[in-house]
Amino acid sequence: MQIGVQYYRPPFPNERYWKEDLKSIRAAGFNTLQLWVLWGWVEAHPGRFDFADYDRLIELANETGLKVVLSAIAEVQPLWIHREIPGSEMLNHLVHKVVSTNRTECHFGITPGGCFDNPAVWERMQNFFRAVAGRYKDAPNLYGWDAWNELRWNVHAQGLVCFCGHTLKYFREWLGKKYGGLDGLNRAWQRRYVRWEDVSPGWAANRPFTEAMAFQHFLTARANEHGRKRYETIKAIDPVHPITMHGGAPSMCYCGQDFEDRIITPLDRGNDWDMASYLDGVGCSSFPKWGRQDWADFAVRMETIRSAAGKKRLWLSELQGGRAGQGFSQQRPVRAVEQQHWLWNGIAVGAETILFWCWKDEVFTTEAGGFGVSGFDGYAEERLAAFKATEGILKKHKKIWDTYRPERPEIGIFFSPQSEYLHWCNNKRSETYLNALLGYGKALVRKNIPFEMVEEEHLEELKRLKVLFMPRALVTDEKTEKKLTDYVSGGGTLVVESECGAFDSCGIYRYPENRFLNKFGIREAGRRTIDKETIKFQIVADKRRFDLTGSQWVTPWLSDSGQTWARYGKEILAGEVAIGKGRVILLGTYLGETYFKKRGCGLEDLLKMICARSGFCRGVEAVSDRQGDVYIREGASGGKCVFFVFCESGCKTVTIKTTGESLRFQALKDLISDKTVKRVRIKNKNDLAFKFNIPREKMLVLIEV
Ligand SMILES: [Zn+2]
Repeated sequence: MQIGVQYYRPPFPNERYWKEDLKSIRAAGFNTLQLWVLWGWVEAHPGRFDFADYDRLIELANETGLKVVLSAIAEVQPLWIHREIPGSEMLNHLVHKVVSTNRTECHFGITPGGCFDNPAVWERMQNFFRAVAGRYKDAPNLYGWDAWNELRWNVHAQGLVCFCGHTLKYFREWLGKKYGGLDGLNRAWQRRYVRWEDVSPGWAANRPFTEAMAFQHFLTARANEHGRKRYETIKAIDPVHPITMHGGAPSMCYCGQDFEDRIITPLDRGNDWDMASYLDGVGCSSFPKWGRQDWADFAVRMETIRSAAGKKRLWLSELQGGRAGQGFSQQRPVRAVEQQHWLWNGIAVGAETILFWCWKDEVFTTEAGGFGVSGFDGYAEERLAAFKATEGILKKHKKIWDTYRPERPEIGIFFSPQSEYLHWCNNKRSETYLNALLGYGKALVRKNIPFEMVEEEHLEELKRLKVLFMPRALVTDEKTEKKLTDYVSGGGTLVVESECGAFDSCGIYRYPENRFLNKFGIREAGRRTIDKETIKFQIVADKRRFDLTGSQWVTPWLSDSGQTWARYGKEILAGEVAIGKGRVILLGTYLGETYFKKRGCGLEDLLKMICARSGFCRGVEAVSDRQGDVYIREGASGGKCVFFVFCESGCKTVTIKTTGESLRFQALKDLISDKTVKRVRIKNKNDLAFKFNIPREKMLVLIEV
């Protein structure tokens, strides 16, 4: 397992620190160093590559016993790009040339630079990849490549890009392929185009959704394909070392928030699921303290990127090292205990490489004074001591980690990029959609129900899922509907919210009788106004009551059969309908985003009840001596169960309870405290309990013995 730190973003840190820093990094327990190789820096003169600083650093790292991960940063381009290739600028949605500048966190080089759809720009970019790969493929301590950092390409574009001739040509070709020519496009879009040049991208919300959704989808596909070209270029030179890429967050979280000076659309930097299909691995950055994410939010993101990676490598490519730097804003420090929880949560979901950002505090722009694991926020000492201890545990039990695999969950959350595009069209951002997904995810992990994030184009996982939650899945296409219908008929539980499948892929609204659930005799009555922003109501099911808060509107259901769980007037607000061997659970409003904003046990209990009702039974449970969250994630290694227990509250003891034949251990050993606890029987002979005192790390890593 590679546990490392980001070190060099030229020209910082300056050379005078290198030797001592690398020694300290190794001494602190890290085994890997990440270096940013900036195109704009190494090819400051066209055609002349200067790698002297990297040669020295990589050699020093080797002497110190450190592997290196090279981040090939082609999106920070040389200053000469437009001089050498006139007219290579991106054009924004108003057809203005985008003026490139050096980037907030890069001291030299420009962004966004030339459009990579321009063949001359791509040729130069490709030369850079070939030069870096050729120079270092045989370095004895090269571990692997991070071929696209946070999937950036449009930073500081100050508008929506790109509308240059090359990109428009590509957009129209992509549509032609998708729909089988202009006639096909006209049929699908219900238009009367006579020439391709009239087919333009949509660039604003609140205008016809059809071309806006198409352009968003195109930008995702375009980023996926650009990533593939980067991968193939490096792979052709270096077929040996793994090549991964990573977003600034799981791609699902790219929802149109306004940052990095541009208009962004959802997934404009590609889709992790598609990228994982050709890469050796995918990853994501995580800055939980900077982003004010709590432990549950972080756990949801880990499950999401794990789901996208599938069987490929999973890298936590940038994990927050120290207190964030963001101008003069207040930022909370990073304590050792929470940082180790992030690290071990990563291990629990199967990460094989974890790189912290970064070793030293930054020295330029708004990030100055921030992020260093060894930085000056007052907690470097405890962080470094914790890393040293973790290194010891990882080394001592190396065999366990070599074969460790996380358990694959039986509960799914449906992620629909098309629905995310539609939300952008309505609101110019799609946070509502993202928060709905995060809300359901957080409610599940707080109930200790691990989940799979299931992307709409990758439904292979569906077969083994007992429940599929579909928060705000407003857009569905026929192909997906067929799979969902088969899933329910075959025994699955589908949980849908208001207006599920109410739009087609072209963004056209469907009347209730034309939605796929109508095939099951389930129909929505229509949108009903609620008096306030939210609506409080109660579900009664399984002889229990659940207090819930919905939002936006209610769309009551009309159904001849099934159970009613809640009413809205005389109509059904929530209920369950049995279909074939499975069932559909109807929720006629939106529950995820209200929960995301304000935690309530109603939704948590409801989701747990639905899972249990659908045959989901978790054989292990963690109970603490106090109120508060205890999170348990499991996997297996060498045929043995491994449990990671995170105590996110002030508990002193935690009891692990197991049920069933397969979990009848004699004892569990905690690898953190090195203590073994024997079982005691409880209630019936199949139930066992193991009681642990919580060490100061506030976590346990348990393996059966
Ligand atoms: Zn372009």
